[in-house]
Amino acid sequence: MTADGGTPRLACFDLDNTLIDRDGAFLGWARWFVDRAGVGEDAVEWLVAHDNGGFTAREELFVGLRSAFGVRGSVEELVAAYDREHPPFTWVESAVLDGLASLRTAGWRVAVVTNGNVVQQTGKLEHTGIAAAVDYCCISQAAGVRKPDRRIFEIAASQTGATLTDGWMVGDHPSYDVAGGINAGLKTIRIGHHHTLDTPVADHHFDSVLKSFPTILAS
Ligand SMILES: [Mg+2]
Repeated sequence: MTADGGTPRLACFDLDNTLIDRDGAFLGWARWFVDRAGVGEDAVEWLVAHDNGGFTAREELFVGLRSAFGVRGSVEELVAAYDREHPPFTWVESAVLDGLASLRTAGWRVAVVTNGNVVQQTGKLEHTGIAAAVDYCCISQAAGVRKPDRRIFEIAASQTGATLTDGWMVGDHPSYDVAGGINAGLKTIRIGHHHTLDTPVADHHFDSVLKSFPTILAS
């Protein structure tokens, strides 16, 4: 599938709560962490309640956890450990990897475009096998620019030898994924109901990323 001139088209995917169930992985990590730390089960509920889908700064999260439950270790150590220890709790459905493969087989270039830090996002991408299933992973900390800035999508296009023309952005967050896709001139698909925001409105809104693959393939 190429745009005019034979240049491949680009399909971009957000990672957390789009390709993977990031909140489910966080719950798995929280149960493991609380058990190991030997603090009360209440700490699991506290972590989930204060995680805000990963959007609470980790420093703030661990400052709060230490003061509420007396967890050992400095905030800096806790954050660094979290970045290493959370990724092994992630998983991906095999049907998602199959969907990514189907796009590439059809001639699409496929990129993950994710806001986050390199240690944690790389850990998740490699642990799940997504890194090996796409053409390029663009992590905001490495790119020096974050969604919804269109430049992060320009980097993804450049790194994959694709054009943004007639491309797609798929993600769960209206303000980063949908707005970013629109900024880059991409068609957009919103996934799930993780955020209460209604705008900007995506071209499609599906409950699962799996529904995005046939939509892109048919475009
Ligand atoms: Mg997300």
